[in-house]
Amino acid sequence: TLAARLLPLAGKPAITEDGTTIHLYGNIEFPYEVKECNASGADGIGLYRTEFLYLNAKTEPTEETHFEAYKKVLLAMAGKPVCIRTLDLGAEKLLEVPRPEDERNPVLGLRSIRLTLRNVPLFRTQLRAILRASALGKIRVMFPLITTLKELRQAKMLLTDVMEDLEEQNIDFDRNIEVGMMAEVPAAVIFLDRFVDEVDFISIGTNDLIQYVLAVDRSNKDVAHMYTASEPSVLRLLRSSIQTAIKSNTPVNICGQMSGNMLYTMLLLGFGLQQFSVPPASLLEIKKVICSVSIKQCQRIARRVMTKENAQEIRSYLKDELRKQVPELVP
Ligand code: PEP
Ligand code: MG
Repeated sequence: TLAARLLPLAGKPAITEDGTTIHLYGNIEFPYEVKECNASGADGIGLYRTEFLYLNAKTEPTEETHFEAYKKVLLAMAGKPVCIRTLDLGAEKLLEVPRPEDERNPVLGLRSIRLTLRNVPLFRTQLRAILRASALGKIRVMFPLITTLKELRQAKMLLTDVMEDLEEQNIDFDRNIEVGMMAEVPAAVIFLDRFVDEVDFISIGTNDLIQYVLAVDRSNKDVAHMYTASEPSVLRLLRSSIQTAIKSNTPVNICGQMSGNMLYTMLLLGFGLQQFSVPPASLLEIKKVICSVSIKQCQRIARRVMTKENAQEIRSYLKDELRKQVPELVP
């Protein structure tokens, strides 16, 4: 099988044919998923979704519940970085949290960072556990759905506040913990040149970004076909975000599903992306593409794609190029 043929790549770094090292991280939700990340030679965890801690519980998770989950992942990753994303839930899923009224547009509503900033005790509990865990390994913390600078600053302020509490109580944590944000709301992406000054890294969430840029709800079957990463408007925004981050020396990765789709790997490399965070099952495929191409080729492909004006045409061009470069991946 293809998986078996890719297995030897697990122990090798992801380096392009012309010698650029690419960092490949795994996306996880449950601690047990680190196993597959390690087996595929991931450089770390680029997105640790923490929603499961809340969804599986009848009551709000305690600091200890958080801490134990993070500790498991950290120890399993043995010194490799783990990026923990703070709670990214919609109000409709968190029954314990009082909601003002029924939401007609939940994805435009009180979700994610908006929800946690309104529920400070709940947010502090998670931040405290993340900070405590940071004493045990290399942790990064990341805020989801940031829309304005004000929100980012509020979240960072809370983090600093929790740090001060820990300090007073003589509890160990990493004082230099890296703090990043998801770039997944068009407002933040458009204003990214100002956000990069206030974070240590950026992670582009294409799942939400595409839905907001195209104004398409993927779960609505009447419009779901319009939801695609290959829309030229989306690609233009991605290219400019990656370039904005690079210009300011801010590490940037893409953690949305798009980065685990090998159709887009060459294009994203051509945009200058050097870090991908992908579902564990896609790690080796993406590594295979990276090891089979040169950045120069990818830049040529990216230039070509950006002259096109239709999503379908872009996809079929990318598929042809992938078939040419890595025939074993395209049946
Ligand atoms: C995203 O929006 O691309 C993302 C990675 O976050 P989630 O899918 O958890 O919303
Ligand atoms: Mg998202």
